[in-house]
Amino acid sequence: MARKFLVAGNWKMHGTPASVDALLGAMRHFSDAQAWSSGQVDVVVCPPSLYVPAALAALTGSSVAVGAQNASEHEAGAYTGEVSPQMFAALGVRYVILGHSERRSLFGESDALVAAKVQQALSAGLTPILCVGETFNERQQGVTSTVVQRQLDAVIALVGIDALHDCVIAYEPVWAIGTGMTATPAQAQEVHAFLRAHLATNSAAIATKIQILYGGSVKAGNAAELFACEDIDGGLIGGASLNAEEFLAICQAAQ
Ligand code: PEP
Repeated sequence: MARKFLVAGNWKMHGTPASVDALLGAMRHFSDAQAWSSGQVDVVVCPPSLYVPAALAALTGSSVAVGAQNASEHEAGAYTGEVSPQMFAALGVRYVILGHSERRSLFGESDALVAAKVQQALSAGLTPILCVGETFNERQQGVTSTVVQRQLDAVIALVGIDALHDCVIAYEPVWAIGTGMTATPAQAQEVHAFLRAHLATNSAAIATKIQILYGGSVKAGNAAELFACEDIDGGLIGGASLNAEEFLAICQAAQ
């Protein structure tokens, strides 16, 4: 079955009001020029929360959706500094990245917490982009599939397999994020195929339908060979999404 591609830009904690304006202006320009209008590729940018309203204003009516980089597992309440998925959804945000390895390693997010965040995001009507991936040591130890299965199973156990109908998965080997060390297409495809096969043991329909993105040092120069793999349905792009031309070239590689 042909799955639609998705290319998501994770701006992380980068940008000034001026640089964000410029980047959004360039994104708007490309999108109005319908540079990725084949209909085969969805595009989303995930700015820091503070810049989400500016992104929504700049991209309203364009083909580029807006996502958040994280959201609370709670709907509302005394959670100083947090933003709930319902708040993002009310503004018009459509996606939320959850379980990014930086959240897991730097902010101590457990599999259970990530699962709770996915559950809350789904109930807010957002599409979670659930990140899974192994560290360099885990790959060396040969436990990559055990790790990604554990991360995925924590979510399935809480929300149920059918809820993954409204989720996207991003396989992001931790050793490839921001390092310039991209997984080879064969390495990435192997894990994507494993994830899809594991999903199929729960639901063949979900396994066939779900988009599984690859993330980890994707650039314009390596995107096409990764996206050509059977089980890779697009990318989660960090550093390269901060440059509109480079990001556009990655989106075009997905066509
Ligand atoms: C990411 O932050 O999800 C990511 C994949 O970063 P980079 O593309 O810079 O490796």
